[in-house]
Amino acid sequence: VLILAIESSCDETAASVVKNGREVLSNVISSQIALHTLYGGVVPEIASRKHIEKINQVIQAALSEANVALGDIDAIGVTYGPGLVGALLVGVAEAKAIAYAAKKPLVGVHHIEGHIAANFIEHKELEPPFLCLVVSGGHTHLVCVKDYGEFEIIGKTRDDAAGEAFDKVARAIGLGYPGGPKIDKVSKEGNPQAIAFPRAHVEDAPYDFSFSGVKSAVLNYLNGCQMKGATWNQADVAASFQKAVTDVLVENAMHAVEEYGLKKFAIAGGVASNSALRSAMKQACEEREIDFYYPSPIFCTDNAAMIGVAAYYEYKKGTRHGWDLNAVPNLKLGER
Ligand code: ATP
Ligand code: MG
Ligand code: FE
Repeated sequence: VLILAIESSCDETAASVVKNGREVLSNVISSQIALHTLYGGVVPEIASRKHIEKINQVIQAALSEANVALGDIDAIGVTYGPGLVGALLVGVAEAKAIAYAAKKPLVGVHHIEGHIAANFIEHKELEPPFLCLVVSGGHTHLVCVKDYGEFEIIGKTRDDAAGEAFDKVARAIGLGYPGGPKIDKVSKEGNPQAIAFPRAHVEDAPYDFSFSGVKSAVLNYLNGCQMKGATWNQADVAASFQKAVTDVLVENAMHAVEEYGLKKFAIAGGVASNSALRSAMKQACEEREIDFYYPSPIFCTDNAAMIGVAAYYEYKKGTRHGWDLNAVPNLKLGER
C-alpha cells in the first residue's frame, strides 16, 4: 500500500510517500523558518500564502524522489487538524483535489497521531500498546497508545506546551526564534544546577503538567538581575530552565509507565529531539528496564512521513473521508 501524505498545519509545507506504513520512500519538507524569523514567530497569514506557493512543487518532488506516479498511489493522507486554520486549509484542499482527480480514497489524519506514528518509521518492531509523551509546540500530552489509532490521553498541560515554554524563554534570554533548538545547543555550555527554577506539579493530577510557572520564574530571575544591576549567564539560565522542564517530564512519564504497567515508552513531537530530554529519558527507562523509543530529529518536528504512517493505519482500519472534509483547527486526539 502506497500513501501520498500532505502536511501543512503550521509553517512546514511537506509531502511524503510511505510504503506499507513503515517505509519512507520520500520525505520532502519546505520550511518557512527563515521567513518567520523576521517576525519572531509564525505569522499565520504569511504561512498560508507560502503553503499555496510551495505545495505543488513539494508534492511533485515527493512523488519523483519516491520514483512513483500518482496512479501508483493507493490513498491520499492529509493533516486536517489541529493547527492554523488557513495553513491546514491549503493541505486539505490540495489533498481533496488530488484525490478527486486521481480517483483515490482520502484519509484525514490528526497531526498528533502523526507525531506519535513517527516512532514506527525507524522502530519496525514497535507495536502498541505503549505509552507516549507528546511534546511539541502546541501540545504536552501523555498518551496511552492502546492500538493503532486508539488513544487515551492520561495527562496534559494545564497552560503552556513544553515547546511554547522553550520558545518564550529563548526569546527572553535573547536567543530568538525558533527557541527550542537554540536552548538545547547553548545549554551544553551551561550549568543545569546554577539556578533553582521550580518543578511544578498539578495537585491531584499526577500526569498533568504546568509550564507557565517555570517560564515566569525565568522572567522574574532576569528582572531581578537587571534591577540589581547584576549580570546573568545565558547558558546557565538556559541549562537550568531546560533541566527544570525535563525533570518534570521524566518524573510524570515514568510515574505513568509504572502505574499503567507498560513496558514500552516513546517520545514524540519537536521537543522530543531535545538532547537533554532524550538522555534523561533513556537513563530513566534503563533503570526501570523499559524499552525506550524516539524518532530521529527530522521525524520529530513537522514532516509528512509521519502523516503517511498514521494515514496507512487509518486506511487499513477503513477510515475514509468525503469531499466535505474540512480543516479543524482545534481537533482533539481520538475525535473524528
Ligand atoms: P503541534 O505539533 O503541537 O501542533 P508544532 O507542529 O508547531 O505544534 P512541532 O513542529 O512538533 O510543533 O515542534 C516544534 C517545537 O519543538 C517548537 O516549540 C520548538 O522550539 C521545539 N523544539 C524543536 N527542537 C527542539 C530541541 N532540540 N529542544 C527543545 N525544543 C525543541
Ligand atoms: Mg514548525
Ligand atoms: Fe507538530
